Amino acid sequence: MKTDHQNGTPRIVPRPEHIITRANIAETALKVLYRLRAAGFESYLVGGGVRDLLLGREPKDFDIATDAHPDEVRALFRNCRLIGRRFRLAHVHFGREIIEVATFRGSHEGAGEDGMILHDNVYGTLEEDAWRRDFSINSLYYNIRDFSVVDFTGGLEDLEAGLLRVIGDAGQRYREDPVRMLRAIRFASKLGFRIHPGSETPIFELGETLEAVPSARLYEEILKLFLSGHGVASFELLRHYDLFRHLFPMTEACLAQEENGFPHQMVLRGLENTDARVAEGKPVTPAFLFAVLLWEPVRDRAEVLQAEGMSEIQALQSAGETVIGQSIRYVALPKRFSLQTREIWVMQARLPRRNGKRAARLLEMPRFRAAYDFLLLRAESGDEELQELAQWWTDFQAVDEESRATLSRDAPAGESGGKKRRRRRRRKKPASTE
Ligand code: ATP
Ligand code: MG
Repeated sequence: MKTDHQNGTPRIVPRPEHIITRANIAETALKVLYRLRAAGFESYLVGGGVRDLLLGREPKDFDIATDAHPDEVRALFRNCRLIGRRFRLAHVHFGREIIEVATFRGSHEGAGEDGMILHDNVYGTLEEDAWRRDFSINSLYYNIRDFSVVDFTGGLEDLEAGLLRVIGDAGQRYREDPVRMLRAIRFASKLGFRIHPGSETPIFELGETLEAVPSARLYEEILKLFLSGHGVASFELLRHYDLFRHLFPMTEACLAQEENGFPHQMVLRGLENTDARVAEGKPVTPAFLFAVLLWEPVRDRAEVLQAEGMSEIQALQSAGETVIGQSIRYVALPKRFSLQTREIWVMQARLPRRNGKRAARLLEMPRFRAAYDFLLLRAESGDEELQELAQWWTDFQAVDEESRATLSRDAPAGESGGKKRRRRRRRKKPASTE
């Protein structure tokens, strides 16, 4: 941390000396900022909104900080709801858009034995609010009173240097809230920033603390890491800092033991495709993401079960259930998605069976498209024996219904095309989670 910034005098950059213009701020956010100010309160844009505007990027959302208490905020807006138990926030609704208004928060007291924050619900001053934030670049304030940017923590310098720096003692701040380590990786991936040496060293040692974080919160964070268009970078950094194994231990066990690069390829390709889809504005789903991330342990376990005499479909069903069951203790994929994830896996055993009317029926199944995309991914990731099968399904979808009937008849009965997927056998036992 830069102590010269910690003397209570912020660096203030006046309007003509920075690039933030109101034209780039959402109408709704401006409305909230102005109304708070008109009521005599301080009001600032803060967080990712300011950071992204200063970088010339389009902000994902706009957060507002004020000295008005939540009840006072609610009194000013008819379309306002208070949320949160730990720290109350005001959500001002404009149709589907939500502007989050937070009262300045003071320094946190009441950390538990492990250093995790138990409550941080003390109101504070603007300066205190600046110091309790996670990274210096996330602690910049745009003042609606004179359109200046206010910097207590050295965020402007770090922004220019492309540096992600934890405010305060990094180790302590990560212990207080281990999700900050994931946030560091997320911002580094998204912005292409470097994590400051002092802020990165503790990460290597603190991975285990993630295991105390509620799995539902980790799930939310995983989606932001992998479904926001920078999934490949996030994955590589998570592995670099050895955090991945605390989120997906079974997958990590497969990656660590791999001999031919196959599992790694599968995850990488899957994330590459996801990033490309996000870039094109196409929808992405947690069900497919988790199908990719957990496939290796499922496949390994299914192989063992098959060797014990189960059918491929049964084996995938059972393995899928086991792997999801263990994985949600770490990252809580909601049931509505995990059901789809498991369907995608089980469909992998159905796709090779194309005889008679089967193929046409499979085509009608709700998860066909995802299962087909998944098959393509497996084929592309080095599973050569699947390439013919993938091509067959590609052709089958391209032709009209009449020709489909012929194609189906031509398909060798019960032909698997993927049963002996690879000659590789790495180990006899399924990946351990511990
Ligand atoms: P995004 O572009 O993803 O919205 P963001 O920086 O705005 O990025 P948010 O999760 O919206 O991230 O949080 C808004 C702000 O709240 C952050 O910029 C940061 O100042 C503060 N903040 C969020 N999470 C934490 C945390 N775990 N610890 C400390 N400060 C946090
Ligand atoms: Mg934000």
